[in-house]
Amino acid sequence: MCAAFTSTTTHHELTPHEVVELLSTDARNGLGDKTAHERLAQFGPNTLPRPARAGLLMRWLRQFHNPLIYVLLVCGAVTMAIGEVVDSSVIFAVVIVNAVVGFVQESRAEAALEGLRALIRTEARVVRDGEVRSVPSERLVPGDLVVVEAGDRVPADLRMVTLTELSADESSLTGESAPVSKNEVALPPDTAVADRRNMLYSGTLVTSGTGSGIAVATGANTELGEIHRLVGAADTLATPLTRKLAWFSRVLTVAIVALAAVTFVAGLLRATEGTNTFTAAVALAVSAIPEGLPAAVTVTLAIGVGRMARRRAVVRRLPAVETLGSTTVVCSDKTGTLTENQMTVQTVWTPGLAVDVHGSGFAPVGEIVDASGTPVDPDQHPALRWTLLAGLLCNDASLRRSKDGQWSVVGDPTEGAMVAVAAKAGYDQNRTLADMPRTGSIPFSSDRCYMATRHTRPDGPPVVVVKGAVEQVLALCRGRMSGAGEVDPLAAEEILQATSDLADQGLRVLATAVRDDDPTDPADPDPDQLPGTLAFTGLQAMVDPPRASAADAVRACQRAGIAVKMITGDHAATAKAIAARIGLAPASPETDTASPKDNAASPKDNATLTGRDLAGMTDEELPEAANWASVFARVSPQQKLRLVEALQRQGHVTAMTGDGVNDAPALRRADIGIAMGRSGTEVAKDSADMVLTDDDFATIEAAVEEGRGVFDNLTKFIAWTLPTNVGQGGVILVAILGGLTLPILPVQILWINMTTALVLGLMLAFEPKERDIMERPPRDPDRPLLTSALTLRILLVSTVMVVGTWWLFQWELSMGAELAEARTAAVNLVVAVEIVYLFSCRSLTQSPWRLGFLTNRWVLIGVAVQVVAQAAITYLPSANLIFDTAPVGWETWIRVAAIAAVATAIVAVDKRLRRGSAV
Ligand code: ATP
Repeated sequence: MCAAFTSTTTHHELTPHEVVELLSTDARNGLGDKTAHERLAQFGPNTLPRPARAGLLMRWLRQFHNPLIYVLLVCGAVTMAIGEVVDSSVIFAVVIVNAVVGFVQESRAEAALEGLRALIRTEARVVRDGEVRSVPSERLVPGDLVVVEAGDRVPADLRMVTLTELSADESSLTGESAPVSKNEVALPPDTAVADRRNMLYSGTLVTSGTGSGIAVATGANTELGEIHRLVGAADTLATPLTRKLAWFSRVLTVAIVALAAVTFVAGLLRATEGTNTFTAAVALAVSAIPEGLPAAVTVTLAIGVGRMARRRAVVRRLPAVETLGSTTVVCSDKTGTLTENQMTVQTVWTPGLAVDVHGSGFAPVGEIVDASGTPVDPDQHPALRWTLLAGLLCNDASLRRSKDGQWSVVGDPTEGAMVAVAAKAGYDQNRTLADMPRTGSIPFSSDRCYMATRHTRPDGPPVVVVKGAVEQVLALCRGRMSGAGEVDPLAAEEILQATSDLADQGLRVLATAVRDDDPTDPADPDPDQLPGTLAFTGLQAMVDPPRASAADAVRACQRAGIAVKMITGDHAATAKAIAARIGLAPASPETDTASPKDNAASPKDNATLTGRDLAGMTDEELPEAANWASVFARVSPQQKLRLVEALQRQGHVTAMTGDGVNDAPALRRADIGIAMGRSGTEVAKDSADMVLTDDDFATIEAAVEEGRGVFDNLTKFIAWTLPTNVGQGGVILVAILGGLTLPILPVQILWINMTTALVLGLMLAFEPKERDIMERPPRDPDRPLLTSALTLRILLVSTVMVVGTWWLFQWELSMGAELAEARTAAVNLVVAVEIVYLFSCRSLTQSPWRLGFLTNRWVLIGVAVQVVAQAAITYLPSANLIFDTAPVGWETWIRVAAIAAVATAIVAVDKRLRRGSAV
């Protein structure tokens, strides 16, 4: 392989020009498509080697690392030692079946999680054939000219060629957490990786600024590839619930072992024969162990994650699935999440002339007309001309036309709209930029709320153009451009009033300003030097329609007891108008104390607070205000963090969306951080628990619904499995305490446990969501696993099982049945009660009749399989031999069915009596 393309080449010691030569590329136009194609074939995709996964053997052995399984293994070994070969073989068979199921499920769940990661595609911006294009980052090749900006994950190792205020978080590579600022100066050969200021390394994150660089290494050849560290290593499958369950398993094991030991000792003291006592103790242990629990939890979570992904919510951290179910407040961005992010400039306002712009979407076709409908020539109106030119020049976006004639934007839609309106006025982007090339810039950031660029021109001094939030741009202005192109006094009141009038219609308003008369302008505009030097030119007001689904999703959240709050960087009036359209009804404050102060940017309003209001509040005042207000405008990313903390202090489980670099702290702090898959920066995605692949608010609502469904199904499985295990344990305990013959043998219990958990219980993981799932209040995250209602149900069902089994066992014996026949009847009864109880557990509150029997066909299939299996163990001679069973007559089946019917009735009555208090 050519040495130029490997990371061993010390590109940092070369000048940008030398790197360009070395990699046979072009610092302006990048590679040609053909060359890029060839290099892709030569060097392969720009992907890192897969992270090392635990070996097959380790993953297999891990299945046995569970206290409940240890108990079974010990039971199996001792049973073998005392010569009970059949019993011990069955115990070992159960352990192995359990491990196989666990192994398969775990592998599938991990594969599913890995597949999900692929859904979050990373795009890189490269210059190919002189055009900026967005390509999947795996298609980058050495020599590509890559463009980066704040928020991007660096897609390959880059030798920087141009940069503005560029700094990067290289902690994933060097461990250094403070951002490192970059430049393009060549460095001595022995400079350490951490000090190579002219390089950006693959996998690191751009925290500020913009720049472009030549890809000098891709894929495994990058520094990251070399140290074999994959960012975002495999998720674990642990969640708060699985941890709670693991703890529960340990407690259960200790309790079961203690009980079995006491039983064994008590048996010996009574001078019963040692083997029998031991068999009884083993029976007790295996009956009470819920072997299917770990598999059920993994399967249910994996199914939930899959369902969410199908609804376009990709879970990055598994605990999010559960937390979603208890979310009480969702804080959402406006732009792109509640709205379409399909910006179209509708009005351009300048002092003295306001024009309407026709056309929709990003298509650069439409007329510019005045109030009387007469077309306007911007070249005749300097303020209008500069407003359009500023929007066009101070811009990193471009428009593209697809083969089917649709126009779309590469880059920020707000900027795309400004390119489109300029084109409608006859200003072509490429031509204008060729006439006035950019020589420097101040990139946009949500903190600064404006962007500035500097351009040289053939017919005058260099020009600095600015666009951004009205208040911020006005702060930079010394006056405003008159109709004749002169600079008049600013008269900010009129401009703010015009802004307010446009924003009240839900329009997004940006201001523009220029400085075209300073020949001494420095090449790079300096944010500290700008204030008070520019001339305001005008306003561009764009529509960004609310998403069609937003109003319904907001309503669904509110019905589900989840408060929705809009947190936006936009103007208060714009935010309020959009909020009203999507049904974010004003909340009334409980008291007047926290009501907003007078503020030029925010009309005084009960439901709306601005960043300035928040800045004026103490940490003690904020929580209450955060609780009642539903719209927060002109909020900075730092204030987002304060809001999350304030809401959490009010006891809220908070979901928060974000897309920018500076949103990362708030996303991490939120109980559920949600990043935007399309428009979000890599930094935001990296900090989030969940990524929306369609950026749509309705997807959050869908994810909450699925999250609730997952938790419901887990609770249903627990509600089903625990009573049955306790019931079986009870049956054995009665025998031991009463010194009676065991009605069910250990092998039979293992048969019941294993088959029912797999064939019956697991089917609850496929249970569809209940109809009222979004009508209930959010789940309290602190609610214990064993609620009092569940404890009572465990007692009830287990009592029914113990009484029913004993009664039937004794009845069969008294009717002259053989011991094996009576035991077979008892085994079938336990399974029958589990089947009828399974139907009951399909809903925690509703009766199975109301749910409809056909809504989960997996349950029906499972029941059918279980019935066949019971017939087999009862009538097949070989099964009779292994399990000590015997064929029974039809009268026995009638008695089994009758007791199961009584059990159904008792649970139904219990459910009816405790309606509303879900188990
Ligand atoms: P949201 O927070 O709901 O996504 P937003 O896009 O308005 O809303 P920010 O991206 O923080 O939030 O932008 C804040 C303000 O900065 C905007 O309201 C707009 O006035 C201005 N602005 C947005 N994008 C740009 C840009 N590319 N260049 C200059 N100014 C911008």
